[in-house]
Amino acid sequence: MMANTFLFFSLEFLSNKKLLSLSRVLLYSVPPIILTGIIVFSNTIINQVFLMGDTRIVTFGYIYYFYSLIMFIYFALCYKNFYLTYKTFKNATDKRVERIQLYYVFVGTSLSVIIGLICDIVLPFFGYFTFYWFGPIMTIIFVGFTVFAIIKHHLFNAKVIATEIFVLSLWGFVLMRTLFSETLQDQLLNGGLLVTTIFFGVLLIRGVLKEVSQREKIEALAKDLEKANKNLAKVNTDLAKANDRLKELDNLKNEFLSFATHQIRSPLTAIKGYASLLLEGDFGEMIDPVKNAVHTIFQSCQNLVIIVNEFLDISRIEQGRMKYDMIDFDVKKLCEDTLNELKPNIEKQGLTSSFSAEDKNFMWNGDQGKIKQVIGNLIDNSIKYTPHGGISIKVSIKDKNILIAISDTGIGINKEDIPKLFEKFSRTKEANKQNVIGTGLGLYVAKQMIEAHKGRVWVESKGSGLGSTFYIELPLKK
Ligand code: ADP
Repeated sequence: MMANTFLFFSLEFLSNKKLLSLSRVLLYSVPPIILTGIIVFSNTIINQVFLMGDTRIVTFGYIYYFYSLIMFIYFALCYKNFYLTYKTFKNATDKRVERIQLYYVFVGTSLSVIIGLICDIVLPFFGYFTFYWFGPIMTIIFVGFTVFAIIKHHLFNAKVIATEIFVLSLWGFVLMRTLFSETLQDQLLNGGLLVTTIFFGVLLIRGVLKEVSQREKIEALAKDLEKANKNLAKVNTDLAKANDRLKELDNLKNEFLSFATHQIRSPLTAIKGYASLLLEGDFGEMIDPVKNAVHTIFQSCQNLVIIVNEFLDISRIEQGRMKYDMIDFDVKKLCEDTLNELKPNIEKQGLTSSFSAEDKNFMWNGDQGKIKQVIGNLIDNSIKYTPHGGISIKVSIKDKNILIAISDTGIGINKEDIPKLFEKFSRTKEANKQNVIGTGLGLYVAKQMIEAHKGRVWVESKGSGLGSTFYIELPLKK
């Protein structure tokens, strides 16, 4: 019966498919059952057993050869099954543990089976009976390897096995009590107990199996998670590398930008200077069409100078090379002066302007030149984007901050454009229609400069066509 059950085991063990059907169990069980019957009830396999001194001598009947052949065939079938299972695992990377388990079972059973067959079949065949007892004991090797595989490699679940052994022993014990009860009353009582233990035993085993399968699922999920984490870590390092590369490229771009703009600035200054001299008549009087052309050259140069300066500012800011010379100055006066300087442009556009300030002290410490640049830029924008109406500047103190408000009655800004306005190269559609000259860099530079002073700059507008107010907030305490 050992060969038979071992064959069942080889079919079931680690195999993904359910190979052990009821018909197979019956088919494989028939020959061993018949052979067992023949051994017990006839002398055609075991003919005679007698003692000679200490040794038990066995003589065999004529079917013994057939019996041995069947035994060999059964064990050969077992190893064929193991081999087939091994083949399906061989190249699967996720079956490493299963391969190890198979290895232990293979070595353990092979040693037991080979020694068992030699001691119990081969040697007795040649008349040596001295070691027949050794064969069954050798199953210890199989047990040893299996126990090791259970503990070290989770071959079978130890908890399930322990529960099953416990439940089966309990059933056996209660069954014995029932069978050997002396009175009918005892028998009924123990019978009831047996039914109850069978019921709860089944529940217990099922519960443990369920718990184990859940734990296996959790373990599989944890493994997946670990894998995902590893992938994430790899993605992160790749991203960090890409980021470094981008920073490098960004630096290169900034260096190029600053180099190129510097190179452009000197010829521009020369062109602008000569155009100005020409306009002032230093090279003689010009006829009107020439004068107009030179005026356009001068204007275009002026615009180009602004753009080049913005690019230079940006490359300085992004390379961290922007220098701030902090001095004490009057913010109110600075605003008023800047507005007055730009008044000719305002009037040329046919716009009105007004200035108001609270009667307070507006002394503040910062880079006067940069703050003037920002205020000038905002007034310039108001001139650019206000077709008619006017511009007003108000200076006040609010919550320990100096607040400069530059309002106009211009084209206004849509709500959805406001959040992007202070980003690099950001221009609204309306601005593009209204004024083609513009880079979308002025507000970005303004924001960087004000933030370097720990201040804030923002815009409020009721929408398209409804004017805008730009605010600069400078903290009195930094
Ligand atoms: P530029 O004026 O060169 O386009 P800026 O950074 O100075 O660049 O301004 C960005 C955009 O903000 C402008 O293109 C325009 O769409 C909008 N904007 C700035 N000031 C005003 C204003 N006073 N009224 C309406 N829109 C404005």
